[in-house]
Amino acid sequence: MPVETVKLTGKPVVEHLRGNIKIRVEKLKENNIVPRILIIRVGNKEDDVFYERSILKNCSFLGIEGEVKELTYNVSMEELSKIIEDANDDDSIHGIMMFRPLPEHLEEKKILEKMNPKKDIDGMTPVNLGKIFEGDISGFSPCTPKAVIEMLKYYDIPLQGSNVVVAGRSLVVGKPLTMLLLKENATVTICHSKTKNMSSITSKADLVVAAIGKAKFMGQEYFSESSIVIDVGVNDDGKGKICGDVDYDNIFGKVKALTPPTGGVGTITTTILLEQAVRACEMITSDQH
Ligand code: NAP
Repeated sequence: MPVETVKLTGKPVVEHLRGNIKIRVEKLKENNIVPRILIIRVGNKEDDVFYERSILKNCSFLGIEGEVKELTYNVSMEELSKIIEDANDDDSIHGIMMFRPLPEHLEEKKILEKMNPKKDIDGMTPVNLGKIFEGDISGFSPCTPKAVIEMLKYYDIPLQGSNVVVAGRSLVVGKPLTMLLLKENATVTICHSKTKNMSSITSKADLVVAAIGKAKFMGQEYFSESSIVIDVGVNDDGKGKICGDVDYDNIFGKVKALTPPTGGVGTITTTILLEQAVRACEMITSDQH
């Protein structure tokens, strides 16, 4: 029997978040403060350039200034470190976002250690990740896990006491998301590539978040009619189309709620980044006064 699946789209979540950001940007402008971010891009990866364009478009829509520092692929550790240190010291820059992964000759961990955590709007410095793991929400979160939480809150999906499975344990998505869900009092199970019989675990959960990076990997056997499914995966389906980790076409109509492969969680990520930029600006400028 088909069930009526609720399609969880990102657009209304973005609109809701933008309303709040715009009010806060206006308030800063009343004090002659314009939030400003620096985007650091090493090389010319198509995905990075695409995301960068989306960030800049959203910046201008929200009244935030965005500047890009484009570096050649063979930039040295010293040059990149200097750029980060200069941005740390520049009072007119409130947030720094650096595309990762960096090329192999650059030691990403060392570079991130140099970034001022107060300007780390992408939530990747050890200090901010540490805060997430301590359950301290005063820092910045990686944007995708935060986007998942905002989506769940917007759609009033209960988390307290719910059984949640996070499929994937990366430091960008799975692990920080697990911590944010724990903070919401969910009971969280993490699955990964060595998990045995993952479908027997996910199919019993109230909520499943798929973040494994495997095109349409999770089919009907991974879910039940009462499953709420958040698909974080962004993959190429082999035919030039973007698809998620979940087999959307075969799952829709068989679960309670589901995010689409495009127009879902990914739509919210940029707005989270810019919300964190505004928060960084608010905190830095209030420290200065
Ligand atoms: P990642 O670093 O490659 O991590 C993938 C995780 O999935 C790993 O923990 C891996 O387990 C696990 N995994 C792989 N195959 C599995 C399997 N067959 N069964 C169970 N677990 C499996 O990827 P990521 O950066 O976390 O990204 C995950 C997905 O989210 C990708 O599709 C990515 O494009 C997408 N993404 C989307 C956004 C967005 O804004 N929407 C942002 C970031 C990422 P092991 O640890 O055992 O290897």
